[in-house]
Amino acid sequence: PRHRRPRRRHDEARQEDPVFWWQGDVGQGVRVAFTDRGAGNLALHTGDDADAVRSRRAALERSIGVPGGSLVFLEQVHGTDVADADRDDRPAVPTADAAVTATGVPLAVMVADCVPVLLVGEGPRGPVTGVAHAGRRGLLDGVLERTVEQLRARGARGLSAWLGPSICGSCYEVPAAMREEAVARVPAVAATTSWGTPALDLRGGARERLSALGVGVVEPTADTGSSCTLENEQLSSHRRDPGSGRIVGLVWGTGPRGEDAA
Ligand SMILES: [Zn+2]
Repeated sequence: PRHRRPRRRHDEARQEDPVFWWQGDVGQGVRVAFTDRGAGNLALHTGDDADAVRSRRAALERSIGVPGGSLVFLEQVHGTDVADADRDDRPAVPTADAAVTATGVPLAVMVADCVPVLLVGEGPRGPVTGVAHAGRRGLLDGVLERTVEQLRARGARGLSAWLGPSICGSCYEVPAAMREEAVARVPAVAATTSWGTPALDLRGGARERLSALGVGVVEPTADTGSSCTLENEQLSSHRRDPGSGRIVGLVWGTGPRGEDAA
């Protein structure tokens, strides 16, 4: 099943509506989604044409029904800073690897092998939501712990996390010393490639960290192929193809509050 062929070529859909690897209604008027390459590259930092990226982002906003320009993207630096999307004085593009909101600001996180994590909890005045970019560095340094801490500081209870497509433990080869260092900090990342060399299972690490924090973990599967970014060419993988850009994880509100926040 890991090697099921894509049902359609991403190129054919590129000029049309954005294409999602998976999306779902998660209650409280909140939806979560992960794009695939059918939505095109959504990152401004990969050398792609900036106007084309902006128009893809605008198409994505129209598609999910949020106001143009309202979707918050981050300047991701493999750190552990968590942006407060509710602050009036926040930069348009915060430098952070996670973001949280208690007012329904639509959030995006870009990935191409790292794990996109979307979080939703119940707050005192409606849903509290967040996104996090869990790559090797961020995962080991505690980006998930810091994001959950910030969500709970806003009153979030009953947190759940949706883990999106990422490179799997059978594909993510690393030097033995790197695996050793990682496993010492998050044992669940220990993995071996399908060809028998040291590897990391970032998703397994994220799953273990979130579970330890008392967060319910959901790992959606799509009928369009593997959730491994390296194996599924409909997904962006920096390792397979550095030019494949970035897919995104999204969390947004569909209720009246989201419209008020506009
Ligand atoms: Zn894989």
